[in-house]
Amino acid sequence: MSTKPVRVRFAPSPTGSMHVGGVRTALYNYLFAKHHCGQFILRVEDTDVARSTESAQLEQLEDLKWLGLQWDEGPDVGGPNAPYQQSKRLDDYKKIAMKLVDEGKAYYCFLTDEQMEAQRLDAEKNNTPYQVISPHRELSLDEAKKRIANGELATIRFKVPDGKEQYTFEDAVRSEITLPSHMVGDFVIMRSDGMPVYNFCCVIDDHAMEISHVFRGEEHLPNTLRQLMLYEALGWEPPIFGHLSIILDEAKKKLSKRHDAASCADLKKAGYVPEAILNYLALLGWSHPRGEEILTLSDMIETFSIDRVHASAAVFDIAKLRWLNGQHVRHMDEKTLWQLCEPLLSEDKSLHFPNDPDWYKRVMPAVLSEFYTINDGVDFIKKWFDVSHFHIEKESQDVLSLEHASDVIRLWLEELPSDNYLDDEKYQQLVKQIKDKVKVKGKALFAPLRVAMIGTPDGPDLTLLIHALPIAVLKERAQQCLEHAESH
Ligand code: GLU
Repeated sequence: MSTKPVRVRFAPSPTGSMHVGGVRTALYNYLFAKHHCGQFILRVEDTDVARSTESAQLEQLEDLKWLGLQWDEGPDVGGPNAPYQQSKRLDDYKKIAMKLVDEGKAYYCFLTDEQMEAQRLDAEKNNTPYQVISPHRELSLDEAKKRIANGELATIRFKVPDGKEQYTFEDAVRSEITLPSHMVGDFVIMRSDGMPVYNFCCVIDDHAMEISHVFRGEEHLPNTLRQLMLYEALGWEPPIFGHLSIILDEAKKKLSKRHDAASCADLKKAGYVPEAILNYLALLGWSHPRGEEILTLSDMIETFSIDRVHASAAVFDIAKLRWLNGQHVRHMDEKTLWQLCEPLLSEDKSLHFPNDPDWYKRVMPAVLSEFYTINDGVDFIKKWFDVSHFHIEKESQDVLSLEHASDVIRLWLEELPSDNYLDDEKYQQLVKQIKDKVKVKGKALFAPLRVAMIGTPDGPDLTLLIHALPIAVLKERAQQCLEHAESH
């Protein structure tokens, strides 16, 4: 490990919503920084003006905050290396590009889009890999400046060094990596409109921000090659790189942006909580030293190390995420959980729940053991506890036609007291009374009662249901059940 203070960054381009791969990259950088008492920096890479939007930037920052990955330096919080948004550092990039041009390490290129397209088509025809070959590589600087003064548009291309066949570096995840120089041709560092290009800005920023380690997806390996060339040309020491494996979908194909669980927004909408998303993504490429699976953010900070990050591709498994979500949800306190469900419930004005600010203490335990995602919980609350709707499910019919079902429900209805809620003691007495009088037990007793409470024979324990449904509602529902049983 390097002896430099640990400073890592997450550097999203604000061109769309936050992909789960991006969240995992952010998380590994965050965990690494926090484990080593270092700094986690957020940098916005927005020099691709055609694709960057302010709304995507805002959404990405909100997503990271929602997940709880708070950065120490960044565009909104500032820091000693501001600006943290590349579009605000344009002068630096320009200056350094000019320096490379003056030193003969970069050059003005006047190739037009049409000429490049012709080169691409030629390569396609000859079945050779496409790489731009600029006829202006050896053009004198004076000549180039004259053409610019005459109004010609030029990009600035980096001159891939001749005579160096390969670049080798020690990757923190994959050990030694050798990349042949011919993987890339002379690449653009400044566009003809004067905007710098990602690879160039990234090197300048990582150097300016004294970044010690760069952990990012393996799809960036060709960029790492370009960046190593730039570090060399500028005489700067590169950071330690670590390339994370790609994430595959269930069909073992690269997890596409169109997958319905591909973005942080998708997962949030589907009712996954940040604790579970982070836990799941941490395990998607890293393993806990003692093989533990249910981890909080502080457990992960404590135990994270880059040498337990594996290089093999990771397969996204929504069933495991769902299971982990259930585990985290069950560890939350009732109030927190209610606060996650309540906004979704109040969206539907046709729903009505007992008018009691403490009702959540009654309803959350009743649904908790049943749900995995917040949306599951919301669905159960809507289905079973909306006091203005009672729906007797089809599958209840068999229960209601059992020999003594109506007797059980009738007695239940007659004997219910007139309090607000039924307490445990009274409930046990009632059950005993029904058992003795109707002479039923087990399923024959409890299935009709559950149907009379929530309209279905399957669901939470009756002792939990009685705490969440006011007696007036229990009576109304039992009455409806009897009417239903009689009419069928
Ligand atoms: N802006 C780049 C991206 O979003 C960052 C890559 C890097 O971490 O260097 O992919």
